[in-house]
Amino acid sequence: MSVKVVVNGYGTIGKRVADAAALQSDMEVLGVAKTRPNFEARMALEKGYPLYVLAGREPDFEAAGMEVSGTVEDMLEIGDVVVDCTPNKIAAPNKALYDAAGIKAMWQGGEDHELAGISFNAHSNYDEAFGCDYARVVSCNTTGLSRVLSTLDAEFGVEKVRATLCRRSADPGDIKKGPINAIVPELKMPSHHGPDVKTVLPGIDIDTVAIKVPTTLMHLHIVNMDLKEACTSEDVLEALDENSRIRIIGEGMASTAEVMELARDMNRPRSDMWENCIWEESVSVSDCELYLFQAIHQESDVIPENIDCIRAMTEIESDAVRSITMTNKAMGL
Ligand code: NAD
Repeated sequence: MSVKVVVNGYGTIGKRVADAAALQSDMEVLGVAKTRPNFEARMALEKGYPLYVLAGREPDFEAAGMEVSGTVEDMLEIGDVVVDCTPNKIAAPNKALYDAAGIKAMWQGGEDHELAGISFNAHSNYDEAFGCDYARVVSCNTTGLSRVLSTLDAEFGVEKVRATLCRRSADPGDIKKGPINAIVPELKMPSHHGPDVKTVLPGIDIDTVAIKVPTTLMHLHIVNMDLKEACTSEDVLEALDENSRIRIIGEGMASTAEVMELARDMNRPRSDMWENCIWEESVSVSDCELYLFQAIHQESDVIPENIDCIRAMTEIESDAVRSITMTNKAMGL
């Protein structure tokens, strides 16, 4: 059986989710929804995704010579699950549309936990989303932190986490956001990211602070935590290396620019780096206190998580490890 996936909002996250779902042997992409007949809409059609549009916008697409398969409401009638990838805060009111169509719905990290009631990360809480009607795949930062914390908590126990998030100011294709020449501290201390991690891992004691930096490539996390069990840096590296969505990096890689260069060298689609990239040299433990640096590719680390969330919600795979393995294999991760 193939799960019928539809994607509402075909931007940075939506186009990646559609491509990743199309690669899975147990999923098919029946449609993607666009608001404007731009180059991304043209690419969606060229990739073979039927295009659905906001009601009333059909003439704009037809004038641009783009075939429209129907409205967003029509698209919702033919799917088993809709992955909402519309911008922050636009997505929440869509719930009424999804309920009217009786379709399972997933949102992204820009929405509040309360909208879906379940915040998802495959390695942390796959079972919680099994068979549910709504879920939220947490943000790129929360995904990156959850992967590390669920892995280390299972192995050594995590007592307390303090993380500093150096956040990219905009995605590479975004010409509207900044800063382009400043560092902007988030003055609310601690930042909202710590509580967001707790929506996935409620037992983790974590505080975060954040700054925005003038880069588009990746986020960088400076992570410090107290572990419950005594261990060495080598033990931590071994545990992290076991997680298929964590990549240990080194060999002269000194910056996020080189991490992106690696993704390009690997011929990854859109130079995506789906894994957390943790600098081997940075992993240091002293008296149960661990430090590490990790780079997070904001545009893509949530994509494999979206695929696993579809499997959990639609009950086509009950086992997290099997789903993660399938997703990774199909995507080439
Ligand atoms: P985006 O702006 O790149 O894409 C959003 C798309 O939705 C655009 O194509 C836009 O035209 C379309 N859209 C707008 N209104 C719509 C509507 N009413 N119906 C259908 N489509 C509509 O945004 P994004 O970066 O892909 O973000 C989507 C979600 O993913 C947000 O919740 C965001 O917080 C989250 N997220 C983003 C990133 C990132 O780094 N970009 C990372 C993780 C999670």
